[in-house]
Amino acid sequence: MTISNLYKNILPFVKPYKNLIFIALGLTVIGSFAAQINAFVLKYTVDKISDLLVNKTPLNQGLHIVGIISAILLGKEIIYSIVQFGQKFYGEKLKIMIARDFSQSIVQKILTYRMAFYTNEENESGKLQTRIDAGISSLTRLVQNFFIDILPLFTTAIVALVFMFLANFYVGLVGLITVPIYFYISQRQAARLSGFRRNMRYFRENKNNQIINLIDSITVIKSFVREKEEAARHQQIQYDMTENQMSTRKTSYIFDSLKSFIEQIGIVLVIILTAYFVLDEQMTLGAIMFHIMLFNNVSAPIRQLHRIYDEVNDALIYSESFFVILKADDQKESTGTYRPTHITGAIEMRNVNFEYPNGISALHNVSMKIEPNQITALVGLSGAGKSTVINVLDKFYYPSSGQIFLDGVDLSEYDTHFLRENIGLVLQKNHIFKGTIADNIRYGKIDSSIDEVKRAAMKAYIHEQIIELPKGYDSEAHLLSGGQQQRIAIARMFLKNPPIIFLDEPTANLDAIATEQIKNSLDAIKVGRTVVIVSHSISQIIDASHIIVMEKGRVVEDGTHEDLYDLKGVYHRIFSAMANSLNLDKITKSMQDN
Ligand code: ADP
Repeated sequence: MTISNLYKNILPFVKPYKNLIFIALGLTVIGSFAAQINAFVLKYTVDKISDLLVNKTPLNQGLHIVGIISAILLGKEIIYSIVQFGQKFYGEKLKIMIARDFSQSIVQKILTYRMAFYTNEENESGKLQTRIDAGISSLTRLVQNFFIDILPLFTTAIVALVFMFLANFYVGLVGLITVPIYFYISQRQAARLSGFRRNMRYFRENKNNQIINLIDSITVIKSFVREKEEAARHQQIQYDMTENQMSTRKTSYIFDSLKSFIEQIGIVLVIILTAYFVLDEQMTLGAIMFHIMLFNNVSAPIRQLHRIYDEVNDALIYSESFFVILKADDQKESTGTYRPTHITGAIEMRNVNFEYPNGISALHNVSMKIEPNQITALVGLSGAGKSTVINVLDKFYYPSSGQIFLDGVDLSEYDTHFLRENIGLVLQKNHIFKGTIADNIRYGKIDSSIDEVKRAAMKAYIHEQIIELPKGYDSEAHLLSGGQQQRIAIARMFLKNPPIIFLDEPTANLDAIATEQIKNSLDAIKVGRTVVIVSHSISQIIDASHIIVMEKGRVVEDGTHEDLYDLKGVYHRIFSAMANSLNLDKITKSMQDN
């Protein structure tokens, strides 16, 4: 990312705050002139006092000078304080507003991105979060630098330089020559540091991601007693980071010393030149202080240059990935425009091949028909591609080739949001949001009344348990057990009331009692809809009117339970394994004994 690109990218965010910027700029100009007053006052003071000394004037006759000086300095300080307050306040306001806009726009944008964006390894949650945070904070700092720090400093420097030239051409020249040397050194410093900064970004992203992974895997780490190994792995990245930080500091300090040296040479030159002019009686004594203060007004802002360079560089590096995320228009979900008044739910996949973005080929020439208003079970071993079928049917991913039809219309022609509004998805572990039970159910239909919420909960067979809680529907949903949470998800689905329902291993995470408890609610949600269920539960599979068997990304068998069982193929094998694992003989015997 180049500075001009960065500028172009930031401009739309700054534009709405034009007025704020004009106010800040106006105050900046006033402040820059006010900042020079001290130099003039000091010159006046030294000259007047040296006159008094030379003329041996009594102290009481010189007192009015002190009065004038105090009045001017006080007046200047009052104006300067007001200006500074305004500058800081409006600058800060600008910064806060822009930070808010950056955050909001990136959140709005990534919500429109397709699933592949989120499953991309580069966008793992820790990395994405660091990239967004670092991008926003460096961009906000850049805006702060520019409108709160740089502009006032540079305007002050330029005004001071003009006064130096007005005072004496040669003195002005010393000031003017120092500036480009300083610029050059700062620019070299920034160039040297940019590599380190890029590494730092990489280390930060990985470190944060590693910490998140560590917390996620804490049970496994502890059960295998791998704390030492994990700590050692983390230490490596810390060491690399430290090394990088030390190199950054070393480079910075070398360049800082060099710049300090140049500045001192400038001051010495100003003193020598002015002393010469004073001795030559071309100037008064006060000129020495006057010039040094003016030179200081030039060099102080320039001294900040490396910080500004650093931060611009930071902004270039961090904003690069921030804007890559913000402007990833190719990641936007595609959508058609077809919005039929009614969906029946006849689904057909024809010769569908699908490859995940990481290259894993998950579906091979898959063809299947899912009849409307029936229950179709997808059966197969883990990794067979069952969830992938649901992913492509929900338009979370797009087939690499082949076609999918819903009610005879190609899925790609459907308005994606409309399609998803007509599909209900119940997963292995349904996401329960932080908040009340009522709000979690209401997620299925945001504007539903509490009565509708209750009716949905009744249909999902969870109402009775909710009202027994001390706070009823206002209880925290996270407190519910896995089985109860699953029924909340089903209640949500009743409110959404879609004609098509995909159930992806809805009971896989539940114990036998919970599975038994949610059976009623699952049965209720299936009625009168097109249902596709992925399950390893025998009872749910034999409930289906149609079974599709998958193996290694292919459809290998297709028919009713009886047909497939008699076929003595893959289904027979899987079904028998499931039945055997239940140890039916013992179960039957135990139940008979009772
Ligand atoms: P099933 O639901 O039958 O257990 P999946 O559809 O989840 O199988 O997986 C099919 C294949 O696709 C597997 O090899 C799996 O590793 C791979 N896969 C699943 N999800 C992803 C993903 N998000 N990115 C890459 N590969 C994936």
